[in-house]
Amino acid sequence: MVVPYTHEPFTDFTNDENRKKQEAAIKQVEAELGKEYPLIIGGERYYTEDKIVSRNPANKEKIVGKVSKSNQELAEKAMQVADKTFNTWSKTKPEMRADILFRAAAIIRRRKFEFNAWIIKEGAKPWKEGDAGIAEGIDFLEYYGRQMLRLKDGAPVNSRPIENNRFHYIPLGVGVVISPWNFLFAIMTGTTVSSMVAGNTVLLKPASSTPVIAYKFMEVMEEAGMPAGVINYIPGSGSEVGDYLVEHPRTRFVSFTGSREVGTRIYERAAKVQDGQTWLKRVVAEMGGKDTIVVDDDSDLELAAESIVNSAFGFSGQKCSACSRVVAHEDVYEDLVTRVKELTEQNCSLDNPAKHSTYMGPVIDQAAFDKIMSYIEVGKEEGELVTGGEGDDSTGYFIKPTVFKDVSPTARIMQEEIFGPVVAFTKAKNFDEAIDVANNTEYGLTGAVISNNREHIEKAREDFHVGNLYFNRGCTAAIVGYHPFGGFNMSGTDSKAGGPDYLTNFMQGKTTSEML
Ligand code: NAP
Repeated sequence: MVVPYTHEPFTDFTNDENRKKQEAAIKQVEAELGKEYPLIIGGERYYTEDKIVSRNPANKEKIVGKVSKSNQELAEKAMQVADKTFNTWSKTKPEMRADILFRAAAIIRRRKFEFNAWIIKEGAKPWKEGDAGIAEGIDFLEYYGRQMLRLKDGAPVNSRPIENNRFHYIPLGVGVVISPWNFLFAIMTGTTVSSMVAGNTVLLKPASSTPVIAYKFMEVMEEAGMPAGVINYIPGSGSEVGDYLVEHPRTRFVSFTGSREVGTRIYERAAKVQDGQTWLKRVVAEMGGKDTIVVDDDSDLELAAESIVNSAFGFSGQKCSACSRVVAHEDVYEDLVTRVKELTEQNCSLDNPAKHSTYMGPVIDQAAFDKIMSYIEVGKEEGELVTGGEGDDSTGYFIKPTVFKDVSPTARIMQEEIFGPVVAFTKAKNFDEAIDVANNTEYGLTGAVISNNREHIEKAREDFHVGNLYFNRGCTAAIVGYHPFGGFNMSGTDSKAGGPDYLTNFMQGKTTSEML
């Protein structure tokens, strides 16, 4: 019997006790900043001379941790360990694998304020965003554990008097998991544990901006009883270690989340069959977005404005699902722009995310700051600046929430993923035109429609071509088990993380048939 599960509640920070616990955890983590962390291969710790230095984006002088950096030699060692461990791990009982995930969820739940403090320091997430990421990570552990219990006996197929047939799933082999910095805890955890609970062994390469939280996750998995060599922690450069492992003939699959540029490169390289390789690699690639909120003439404009502001500026717009385009009916366009400007200026305080009152923290690093600021300059040419438009990288990488209006649907800031706190508005003559504009990017990740018109909602359900479409709410904040997540077109392979079929990405079906 699989025990039912809903989802992990968010922490209520209006409660004094919770606020004090979070403040204490931030102090505790501040005392631990700057430490050195090793690689973990087969349960052994390896320290290297070459280090990845993880910095606090809100205060770039502050070092979060110095993490040993894998090279090709260590990546090869990790591959050999993972390959050998697969022989035993793939034969373990699914119940035992799931139990490790349930225990890990319990450990993180007990330490959630501390984990959130690491996310606040390393990823610069405001309290609420970090806490939502912890809840999502816990949900992935609980949900994928239960999905494994559901899938362990395969699926029913027909038998007949002359033969007995079975269909079940077996693991694939060694998986390379490459995770992004923006959901430094949730996506790193979800992509890693889904692969391992399915019976595969894993080489985990976290993003170079956020390797410390991934080390903390490894410690939890070890405490929860994960045998040595099942997940191997090998932070390193994407271009060196990433390329090497993607091309390795013993890599059975790659689970990647990140940009379109890197995802398509991995897809291409993994397709080439190497000498000695005896399978076709699978690639799960969840990539970028250029996500639109459509606002109808018959709609609740206050709801529309709130949804846009939260979806565009939550975590400084650094979500693949963030709203970066708004298409509004011409009759409500000006009122909507005015209300979005007011709400942005009133509510979106920009400050160090270690403070409870902060709505928006900095962007992740100098490269992101420079890229976003250059898009803001492009935006000033392509439309009218409504609010924001300024940045300050003297202490950390702070960019004001920025709104442009009167932007052409084909302008660069309407087409290219900026991945920062920038949203562009365009107007449409009618709902059909609004949906055409919403579909005119190469991406297809999330979208939302604010409308009271039932026919329009049904039209969007059919024609708005995105993997996750929401009505009368914002386009971010998918919940595991409620909103299976993944995109169409150049947003990826639509693997639907947190959905009922997700684990089958990392398993293969086997049919056995016995003549009676
Ligand atoms: P990124 O630059 O593509 O990096 C993602 C990961 O790929 C990092 O671990 C990176 O390592 C690694 N990498 C870089 N070059 C590589 C290579 N040649 N071979 C193998 N791995 C390589 O993306 P990001 O800046 O971390 O994340 C932001 C992007 O992720 C945005 O486009 C966002 O939309 C997307 N995203 C999508 C989803 C989704 O579910 N669809 C969710 C979250 C984020 P290094 O850090 O060492 O370079």
